[in-house]
Amino acid sequence: MDIKYLNKIAEYYKKEYNLDTFIDICCQGLATYYKAKQDYIYFSLEFVKHLYDSGDLKQRANIKNLEQGYIFTILHELKHAIDYKNKPDRYELELKNVDTLQYYSDRQYHHSQPAEIRADEFARQELEKWL
Ligand SMILES: [Zn+2]
Repeated sequence: MDIKYLNKIAEYYKKEYNLDTFIDICCQGLATYYKAKQDYIYFSLEFVKHLYDSGDLKQRANIKNLEQGYIFTILHELKHAIDYKNKPDRYELELKNVDTLQYYSDRQYHHSQPAEIRADEFARQELEKWL
């Protein structure tokens, strides 16, 4: 995967939504996430490959290959940043209501959280723009 392309996508949404989000795209790591307080996206190519291989991404969207999985996932994380920028109180409240242990251990529980549903919807909508 060309990391430059993922950065290009990120730059587009940063400009479009006036975000200051710092985006760290890296090959290794056990997770991909958005940290609201730091306004920081950590994107691990290795972790997204794991999600793809496990069938998680295909279950969430019409993803046909790993490349599309990377694009879908950066769009998903960007939506978290957009959400936090637009409605920080709602975002924090939703996080507060999450069972943290379950959030990180149970993918179905994770995907059923409102912020996660919004992020997946956004990523599904925007995906075609970048294919
Ligand atoms: Zn998410």
